[in-house]
Amino acid sequence: MGELRGRFAPSPSGRMHLGNLFSALLAWLSVRSAGGVMVLRMEDLDPDRCREEYAIQLAEDLRWLGLDWDEGYGRGGPHGPYRQSGRTEEYAAAFRRLEEQGLLYPCFCTRAERLAASAPHRSDGQTVYPGTCRHLTEARRAELARTRTPAWRLTVPDREVSFTDGLQGFYTENLLAGCGDFILRRSDGVYAYQLAVVYDDGTMEVNQVVRGRDLLDSTPRQLYLYELLGLTPPEFYHVPLLLAPDGRRLSKRERDLDMGALRQRYTPAELTGLLGYWAGQLDKPEPILPEELARVFDWSKVPKEDIVAA
Ligand code: GLU
Repeated sequence: MGELRGRFAPSPSGRMHLGNLFSALLAWLSVRSAGGVMVLRMEDLDPDRCREEYAIQLAEDLRWLGLDWDEGYGRGGPHGPYRQSGRTEEYAAAFRRLEEQGLLYPCFCTRAERLAASAPHRSDGQTVYPGTCRHLTEARRAELARTRTPAWRLTVPDREVSFTDGLQGFYTENLLAGCGDFILRRSDGVYAYQLAVVYDDGTMEVNQVVRGRDLLDSTPRQLYLYELLGLTPPEFYHVPLLLAPDGRRLSKRERDLDMGALRQRYTPAELTGLLGYWAGQLDKPEPILPEELARVFDWSKVPKEDIVAA
């Protein structure tokens, strides 16, 4: 592999919290410890949830901790734009390529209908789409299109997709049984995360993705899309999630752990020390700067299991 290229890919839908920062720090340490290039891409696909003021704040919060980037949001570079809201035409072209291959179909199911369909549940609580709209006749499609705007799904094969995660090890999923045909464009015209993230990491020449373990089971779907779009997949490291003391996942609703509160409680070095300790890089949570931690960073010490952030 040539130069290591990693990325931050946050969604500016609120203030970052401790869990987002933990993944960001690990992504940064991995790249910086290997002398690679860091890219910042704002995943602001969803116009209902994302706001520019959050993006500005996010970039500022990363810089506050001492996490910098070489290319991307606010800096530019050869693969821009670095915000997904500015890349719609490119997603549309990728979408058309798949459509021309006959791999997509319109899905008229409402959310309620999808939930009511008796299908197995994935580990992430999502349902496996049973293929209700896969074989509709053209006449039926035309009829349904009169009153509903469809979402568009990718037809997946009955095929096992496997990969070896840098941290979690071997992972495999049968696309049809484990996930089913998945949405690439929502009925409101917004392209799906799965399509955008693959297209972006592929065309931005990202070759290492470090992100939360909650996205581990999206990876087989994404690998399939890399293949269909003729893009080279990165290596993946799915890092543990931080949990609240009661075992729940930290979320943007946990106001006491968002960056606003954290910046009042800790200095950047104190917070890095705490995160570095949870990441298995320090024996105790003592203050250290990210650039100092990068000198000793070692993937083999990072725990696989989720961490109670207490
Ligand atoms: N934008 C996603 C998020 O904030 C991360 C996507 C990824 O790392 O693949 O959760």
